[in-house]
Amino acid sequence: MYKNIRIAFSLLAIIGISNIVSAQDLKPAQYLPKNHVNPWIKPLGALPPIASLTDGVWLKGDLHVHSSHSSEGGYDPKRHPVKDIIAFAKSVGFGYIAITDHDNHVLGDVEHNTWADPDFKSDSVLLLYGAEWTTTRGHGNTFSAKPYDHQKFYDVRDQRDANILAVKKELGIHLSANHPAGPKDHFGFSYDMVDAMEVWNSCLWTKNANSNLIWEDMLASGRRVTARGGSDVHRPSDVNYIGTPTTWVFAAKRNAQGVVDGLVNGRVSVSANPFAPRVEFYADINEDGKMDMMMGDNAKSTGKPIKFRVELKGNVKKDSTYTINVIKDGRKFGSYKMAGSNPVVEFTDTPRLVERMYYRLIVEGPATDYPQVPRSAAVTGNMVALSNPIYFNFDPKF
Ligand SMILES: [Zn+2]
Ligand SMILES: [Zn+2]
Repeated sequence: MYKNIRIAFSLLAIIGISNIVSAQDLKPAQYLPKNHVNPWIKPLGALPPIASLTDGVWLKGDLHVHSSHSSEGGYDPKRHPVKDIIAFAKSVGFGYIAITDHDNHVLGDVEHNTWADPDFKSDSVLLLYGAEWTTTRGHGNTFSAKPYDHQKFYDVRDQRDANILAVKKELGIHLSANHPAGPKDHFGFSYDMVDAMEVWNSCLWTKNANSNLIWEDMLASGRRVTARGGSDVHRPSDVNYIGTPTTWVFAAKRNAQGVVDGLVNGRVSVSANPFAPRVEFYADINEDGKMDMMMGDNAKSTGKPIKFRVELKGNVKKDSTYTINVIKDGRKFGSYKMAGSNPVVEFTDTPRLVERMYYRLIVEGPATDYPQVPRSAAVTGNMVALSNPIYFNFDPKF
């Protein structure tokens, strides 16, 4: 019996291999009639101009934090007060924070709970309005620069995706898939509704591998879904707390709308904690030696070589070496070492003229201490930062 199975598998393997070989040998014309045209593949029109690389400010924060209002048994004032969250955010230099309480605990009425909390205010940290949309099919964070009718979004949660998308558009909110691959509460909705994804949930980077796989699929599909982080804390902890990881957003203006717009545009990177180095990623598309685009930006390829530049900013350990892993279209493109107090790496590649392509970065190296959350660095290990992609030939009307 066992032997028969083995023979069957060997046969399958041979058939499989011979199929691959013949598919490579055949020219498409041998499969398709000569006049066949794929109606979905059209020349790309003019792309919107790329925004300034310098007019703006990098702001750090956490996009997934629960307060005392996230309690199944009702509001628990001692669990994680809004006041303490905002004071902590200020103490680690955050520019913004999103308190995203579970909306099901208040049956959708976030407006009269988290947002109505007398301590939901700050003179220095920008506060996003949002909640963790908590549904049978999964969780997603909403973000908005101003209050909106969250009740309406809660009420539509169990309807068809097209109806949910219509309400989302009407409310003008940002939706970001949380812990998309689970292990529990994976995001079981269409990614057509989604602007961003939580590819780095909590200080335990290694548990996010499957979420990153989904992100790669969405990028390959033509969706420019922004990657972001979120600590997903519910109460104080010395292992996983606010800022593990930290999401950096390049905001054209220092206000809440600037943060939400930056999230949509993908000018976003994630670092292990508020004091870990931040990665910058640029490309020079016209060989003039000046950088023309950064992560999140999309341009037409020219058929000529493009120079990419990676920089590490902030609290860099100058006696250590960092490794920059470049991912091109879901596959490893190259690995570069960088060191010194102002580390920079450049590499060159020639994106194909027509097809969509993207390049993104994963930075590994020494852990950065986070004294306020002393046990987090050991759990995060050598994962330092990740970038969003630089895109070529993506259709903005996808
Ligand atoms: Zn969740
Ligand atoms: Zn959560």
